[in-house]
Amino acid sequence: MFPSDFKHHMFDLPHRRYNPLTGEWILVSPHRARRPWQGQQEPSARSDCPDYDPDCHLCPGNSRTGGIRNPDYRDTLVFDNDFPALLPDIPAGEMDTGGLLKATPEKGLCRVMCFSPRHDLSLPQMAPAEIQKVVDEWVRQFLELSKLGWINHIQIFENKEALMGASNPHPHCQIWAHESLHNEAVKEQNSLRAWLDTQGQCLLCQYLELEQSDGERLVLENDDFSVLVPYWAVWPFETLLISKRHRTGLDQLSTGERSGLAEILKRLTTRYDNLFQTPFPYSMGFHQRPTDGASHEESHLHAHFYPPLLRSATIRKFMVGFEMLGTPMRDITAEIAAARLRELPDKHYLDG
Ligand SMILES: [Zn+2]
Ligand SMILES: [Zn+2]
Ligand SMILES: [Zn+2]
Repeated sequence: MFPSDFKHHMFDLPHRRYNPLTGEWILVSPHRARRPWQGQQEPSARSDCPDYDPDCHLCPGNSRTGGIRNPDYRDTLVFDNDFPALLPDIPAGEMDTGGLLKATPEKGLCRVMCFSPRHDLSLPQMAPAEIQKVVDEWVRQFLELSKLGWINHIQIFENKEALMGASNPHPHCQIWAHESLHNEAVKEQNSLRAWLDTQGQCLLCQYLELEQSDGERLVLENDDFSVLVPYWAVWPFETLLISKRHRTGLDQLSTGERSGLAEILKRLTTRYDNLFQTPFPYSMGFHQRPTDGASHEESHLHAHFYPPLLRSATIRKFMVGFEMLGTPMRDITAEIAAARLRELPDKHYLDG
């Protein structure tokens, strides 16, 4: 541990921070954040998005590509993606040319899940009880998909707003279930496993305890979950949502914890919208234990929120240049980002 004046001196100057979940470093250049603040902030008006769009393939009663008609659903709707990135039935095989040209087949299922029949809503505008139905459906999907013997990992994720590649404003997420662990899951599982083996404790339980005693990077808490800007955050307002009790997956949450998750998701996404008074774009997703049948005590349920906006509704961070060739970097520190998110109200800016 550094004496705190040294820590604050260091945090004012360029430094590297280590991400124990991935084993990678990031670069922090806080002195650059003193550049003049540009970009006027104009609250975006309530969108003119209708609550039902006859051309939307996710709205109740509408036809999707291939002629399937959506039911007149009331809460959530889950269906197999009409254009899936992965397929469940493909032949086995392998290719390896001198270790240089390698390929293996990858089986998987890709589902789409609508959060609500309302075309114009997003998580911050939904009631906690409605969001809890989303959480309950995530749990059902996790349980159902994990029973398939060949499914070893389940990735739930949401891309929100066109800036993050969402092709349709209708509130929805994707659930991909697949044979292999993919890059981020592999890095995290390896780190979590190694930590448990060498320290005898869960990395994220220990990390959360440290953040709670420090407090500088905490954003929000309720009885069941904490949201913080991780020490090693790359995106300007990146957050990590962690279950307070050691749970390896969504299926281990009690009913009370599921409602705690719904409540904190609403508060976090509301603050995100309030930050630049705009529907806040992000990619978010849950990391849970692999579903290969082992207990995976090293896993600890958490969600990452990766929002691209930096200074206003229109000024975003790009991952270019040094970040593509060297390492990701940021200028506002995780501590400053957390303080800004902490100050924001829980009431949505459009709710006057
Ligand atoms: Zn729709
Ligand atoms: Zn834990
Ligand atoms: Zn993770």
